[in-house]
Amino acid sequence: GFEDKTPFNLTSDHLLDGLLTAEFGYRSCRSRYEFAGYHKKSSHKPSPYLLAKLRKQEALQKRCGPGTAAYKKALRRLESNAAVVEDDDECRYLVNISFRGLGNRMLAVASAFLYAVLTERVLLLNGGKDDVADLFCEPFPGATWLLPRPGWFSPFRKLDDYDGDSKESLGNMLQRGAAGVSADGNMSWLSPPHPPSYVYLHLAGEYGFHDKLFYCGEHQRLLRGVPWLLMRADGYMVPGLFLTPPFVGELEAMFPEKDAAFYHLGRYLFHPSNAVWRSVTSYYSANLAGAGRLVGIQIRVFQENQPQQQILDQLLSCVRNEKLLPETTTNNGSGTSSSHGVLVASLSPWYYERLKDEYNGRLAGGVHQPSHEGRQRWRDEAHDVKALSEMYLLSMCDVLVTSGFSTFGYVAQGLGGLQPWVMSRPSPFEEWTEGQAAPEPPCQRALSVEPCFHSPSYYNCTVRRDVDLDKVTPYIRRCVDVSWGIKLV
Ligand code: GDP
Repeated sequence: GFEDKTPFNLTSDHLLDGLLTAEFGYRSCRSRYEFAGYHKKSSHKPSPYLLAKLRKQEALQKRCGPGTAAYKKALRRLESNAAVVEDDDECRYLVNISFRGLGNRMLAVASAFLYAVLTERVLLLNGGKDDVADLFCEPFPGATWLLPRPGWFSPFRKLDDYDGDSKESLGNMLQRGAAGVSADGNMSWLSPPHPPSYVYLHLAGEYGFHDKLFYCGEHQRLLRGVPWLLMRADGYMVPGLFLTPPFVGELEAMFPEKDAAFYHLGRYLFHPSNAVWRSVTSYYSANLAGAGRLVGIQIRVFQENQPQQQILDQLLSCVRNEKLLPETTTNNGSGTSSSHGVLVASLSPWYYERLKDEYNGRLAGGVHQPSHEGRQRWRDEAHDVKALSEMYLLSMCDVLVTSGFSTFGYVAQGLGGLQPWVMSRPSPFEEWTEGQAAPEPPCQRALSVEPCFHSPSYYNCTVRRDVDLDKVTPYIRRCVDVSWGIKLV
C-alpha cells in the first residue's frame, strides 16, 4: 500500500549487513529496520554463506508454507496417515511446540530455525494459545511462520500434550524397535519399514537417553525421510547441533565466528511487533537516551527464600570490583558526577529502590526500572509485552550484569552482542539454605555473548560413550553459570 513506505533509504546498516531482506514494508513492523539505530554498529558481520542460506530458507517458506498447494498436499497426507514415500521434491516441516518463559521460548525458536535451515524444512510455530503473533512480526517475506489451526483429524490438535511419554517420540520409537540397525548396517525404519508421517522430538529439560540420540548423525539420517517433525525444546540447542556430525561442516561455513550464532539468528528472526516496539522506543527516549554510558542490570531470583540483601550485596560488589559504575564514596558532594545511567530489570522493585538510594543523584543518567511484575505469569500478553520490551532495552545498554541461569538474560546479551558480567546463582533445582555463603567471586565475565545450552547430550554416538564436551572442539566450552552447560565461544 502507499502508506507502507520506508521513510528513509534502507542502508546496509538498517539491513544488518544483509541479514534482513528489504522486501518488507516499513510500517507494518517498525522494529525490523529501526533496530540498528538503537544498537551499536556491529563488529560481527554475517558470512555470505549464512546470507545465502537465509535467502534459500525464505524461498522454501514461501514455496511450502501455509496457503500453498504444497502445504495442502502435505497436510492431506498427514491427516490421512498415508504411507510415506521418500521423495526429495516434497516439502518437509518442523513444528516448534513452545513452552516455558519468553526467554526459553525465544532460544528454542532460534534453535529450531537453525535446525530447519540445516535440514531444509519449513519452520512453523505453534501459534495457537501462544501470543507469538502479538509479540513478533513475521520474519519471512510473503509467508507465515504460524501453524494454522489444525483440522479436526490432525495429530496436531493437541500439541501441548506431547511429552517424553508420547508414543510418537523419537526416544520411544527407538526403544520399541520402530527403527534400528538394518541388515545393511545402517539405521533404518523397521516396523513398519518406511518413515512414519511424523515424529515428535522431545528435547526439553531432563530428556532421556533415547531422545538424546537426536544429536547422532545416523539418527539425523533416519529423520530426514520424515515429512513432519514436532519439536519441544526449552533452550538454546545450537551448541548441540555443532556437535552433531552431519551439521558441523555447514555450521562452520555459516558461522565462521561461532560466538556470533545467536547474535545473527536472533537479529534475523525476532522483530518486536509495533505495540512492543512503541513501548521500547518511548521508554528509551524518555528515560535512557540521555545517559552517556548505560549499565543494564538483570536480576532474576530462582529461590524465593534467598535473602534480597544477599543478592543486592553480590550485585554491588560485582559493580565495584569490575568498576562498572563510579564509586559512590568518592563523590565530593558537587552534585551529579557522571553521565552513567542504570537500567534495572527484575520482577521485584526492591533492588531498583536500593540502587536508587545508593546512587541517589550521582548518576546523571539516573536509575530506571520499566516494570516490576511481582511474579512470572503465563499466557498473559501484557506481561509478555513488558518482558520482551525489557529484553530489548537491556540489549541497548553499553554494559550488562546478568543473573546466571537465566534465559531472559541470555536473549538480552545475545541480541545486544554484549558479553555480560554474570552473577552466579545457585541452580533453580537447589533449595536455598539458611546461612549459605554468597557466591565468590560475585560475578564473572561470560566467555562469549552466546546463550548457554543447559541440557547437552554427553553421549558421543561414534565412540558409544559419554565424553567431556569441553574437550571436543576449541569453540565449545563450559558455561561460567551452569557447570554442566556448554556454549560456543
Ligand atoms: P528464565 O526463567 O530467567 O530463564 O527466563 P524466561 O524468560 O524463560 O522466564 C522468565 C519469565 O518471567 C519472563 O519471560 C517474564 O515473563 C518474567 N520475568 C522474569 N524476569 C523479568 C524481568 O526482569 N522483567 C519482566 N518484565 N519480566 C520478567
